[in-house]
Amino acid sequence: MTSQATHRVVIVGGGFGGLFAARFLKHAAVDVTLIDRANYHLFQPLLYQVATGILSEGEVAPPIRGILRRQSNVRVEFATVTGFDLEHQTVTAVRPDDSPRLYEFDSLIVSAGAGQSYFGHDEFAQYAPGMKTIDDALELRGRILGAFEMAETEDDEEARRAWQTFVIVGGGPTGVEIAGQVAELARVGLKDNFRRIDPARSRIVLFDGGEEILANFGDHLSQRATEQLSKLGVEVVTGTVVTEIDATGVTVKGADGTTQWVPARTKVWAAGVQASPLSGLLAAAAGATVDRAGRVEVLPDCTLPGHPNVFAIGDMMSLNQLPGVAEVAMQSGIHAANTIKRRQHGKEPAPFKYRDLGSMATISRFRAVVEFKGIHLSGFAGWLMWLVVHITFLTGFKNRFTALLHWVNTFLGGGRAERTITLRQVMGRVAIEQAGGDALLRSLIAEHPTDAGRTTPSPATAAGTSSTVLGSTAPEGG
Ligand SMILES: Cc1cc2nc3c(=O)[nH]c(=O)nc-3n(C[C@H](O)[C@H](O)[C@H](O)COP(=O)(O)OP(=O)(O)OC[C@H]3O[C@@H](n4cnc5c(N)ncnc54)[C@H](O)[C@@H]3O)c2cc1C
Repeated sequence: MTSQATHRVVIVGGGFGGLFAARFLKHAAVDVTLIDRANYHLFQPLLYQVATGILSEGEVAPPIRGILRRQSNVRVEFATVTGFDLEHQTVTAVRPDDSPRLYEFDSLIVSAGAGQSYFGHDEFAQYAPGMKTIDDALELRGRILGAFEMAETEDDEEARRAWQTFVIVGGGPTGVEIAGQVAELARVGLKDNFRRIDPARSRIVLFDGGEEILANFGDHLSQRATEQLSKLGVEVVTGTVVTEIDATGVTVKGADGTTQWVPARTKVWAAGVQASPLSGLLAAAAGATVDRAGRVEVLPDCTLPGHPNVFAIGDMMSLNQLPGVAEVAMQSGIHAANTIKRRQHGKEPAPFKYRDLGSMATISRFRAVVEFKGIHLSGFAGWLMWLVVHITFLTGFKNRFTALLHWVNTFLGGGRAERTITLRQVMGRVAIEQAGGDALLRSLIAEHPTDAGRTTPSPATAAGTSSTVLGSTAPEGG
């Protein structure tokens, strides 16, 4: 049981930042409410393996309430946060049926992450999904495996080549990893599965606008990654930007200004990141500013100016040009939670100090590049390190175990355990967007009220909250 006087911590987001903050408060005298619009904690670094049929979505996205089930001071709420009132210390949210929720806080930690940026060309999204969510990964899996199916039944040689051409836009870790895995799927994973086409003869092209791929890893590892991808048959094309995309291919522009049309039915967007829209809302509420990537500028202790009890962390935080990586999110989450604990003991907050643990990217099975405190590893040694780190950080024993089994299957046998695709995975997002977006889904839910949609008044929910039946949003007593 918790008392009214217990310090209330609201955490927005159950990703790396939010989850690590919640866990760090395990033994603190606080009531934590963690709000997420998804019911799972997503291990984004392995999304490319979901997209290429190595892992299932459950293995990289365990339920948040399952992870926190033994932490009795945490309540998990499935809702989308829509705004902040920092003066009255409240957070507003909506449940999936659009019914409102209101949360009061004494301390607030916001870790809503980042989404894809198409650099002002959002129309590219329908042809080139990004890779930020489970939906993205399943859609890509459908598109990638579906392209081989389409090629198999295509009579026209030119059209078949377009189905067997895969374009990846962006040569950061995500682009490199997905390019390597699509190549390996084509050359090894799908061997002997088709009769008319040879998947190994597929074309995989990785475009990057910069001078080299994996620019943040330094020249040496960038070069090694390029060599290893080339050995797999991936064409690495740098100094080239994608200027147009449609269903049948992409137009690219080289450094010399010449343009070229590349017929390709499957495109993956792995370039550009934009902070969650909650970042702008939080900045506006606090009178703070956002940087070019939409991240909220925080003080050295990760709090908002003038609001020492409000923290922005992880991918949506702009501080000392720290990168949007899991380590920054985890460490800033722990820092915010620790600051709340320190204050409870009358201690002053300290500035956030980031310990850089390096970067890594896999190229294919048994090949990875790793940069760790000035040490550069590539090939098998890098891959072994990648394996140890990912097994360590994958959340949940069961997930570690089943992921290992799938890796044995893929890395030793070359097989892919997760090759089921459905038309809805491929078409669903675009169809929903064209029909009006998430509002359409909510109106469909509202048209079909069920008892499952009734809210139960909760102690963590502040006064004025609606008690709502699906389809109605009438406030109760507020
Ligand atoms: C494909 C890919 C590969 C990556 N690979 C690596 C890697 O190899 N190494 C590395 O260090 N980093 C990697 N990253 C980056 C890393 O995953 C992020 O830096 C990290 O997840 C950031 O943590 P976060 O808590 O800030 O945000 P997230 O982990 O994105 O969590 C944000 C949470 O907020 C929730 N949320 C968002 N908006 C709302 C809302 N309005 N209401 C309620 N909930 C909301 C989301 O559902 C989500 O659960 C990768 C990222 C991607 C996309």
